Amino acid sequence: MNISATFPDFRSLLSDFLSVISPLPCLACAQEVRMPDSSLCLSCAVGLPFTDHFDHRQNLSFQRLNGRVEVDHVAAILYFTRSSVVQEMLHRFKYQGHEEVGQYFGWLGACLWQDAQWPKPDVVLPVPIHRKKMRRRGYNQSAVFGCAFSKKMQVSFDNQTLVKRQASESQTGKGREERVQNVRSVFEILHPQHITGKKVLLVDDVITTGATLESCILEITRFQPAGISVLLLAAAR
Ligand SMILES: [Zn+2]
Repeated sequence: MNISATFPDFRSLLSDFLSVISPLPCLACAQEVRMPDSSLCLSCAVGLPFTDHFDHRQNLSFQRLNGRVEVDHVAAILYFTRSSVVQEMLHRFKYQGHEEVGQYFGWLGACLWQDAQWPKPDVVLPVPIHRKKMRRRGYNQSAVFGCAFSKKMQVSFDNQTLVKRQASESQTGKGREERVQNVRSVFEILHPQHITGKKVLLVDDVITTGATLESCILEITRFQPAGISVLLLAAAR
């Protein structure tokens, strides 16, 4: 009997079996998830600060952008607070290669969007990052989030139309006008035909000052979309 030939088969069977029964680590704290069909452990899932944005069109994130730019629907899934489970999760997503965080919330965002019965977008555009940053991180976190959203919603995802030309200078210590000016020249639309007359959904991970989103929206608006909405993974309270 040729044992060496049968062992690899047994090992691969065992590893297949283990991958089915052994739970995946929690997306936020990496501890074992004991709940079926969940990507988060119980204490992280219970502690997540969900916003009420999908219940109110005039919510906090909508108000943050409305008046500065014209937007239809704006929502963040979670509130962002420092030293919270959300910060930990976003850190794992942004800097430690855990794309599954963005995939999970993209899927969840689509469920919430559908439940709220908000109009289905025609095209999803992620807020771009510069090529250099992209090479360093391996992926654009907003694109991972937006791609998962568009898959669940069955709408088209466009990673090529809205691009970032150069690494922007630090925004620290600048006034709002200056911040907007600084980023305005940075974003560019490469394929106007992909957005003209379309309901555009812009996706990003976190809204802080809103200056980046404002600049992207101003750039998109120049090409007459049918409307612009925004989905965020998290927003500061
Ligand atoms: Zn956890």
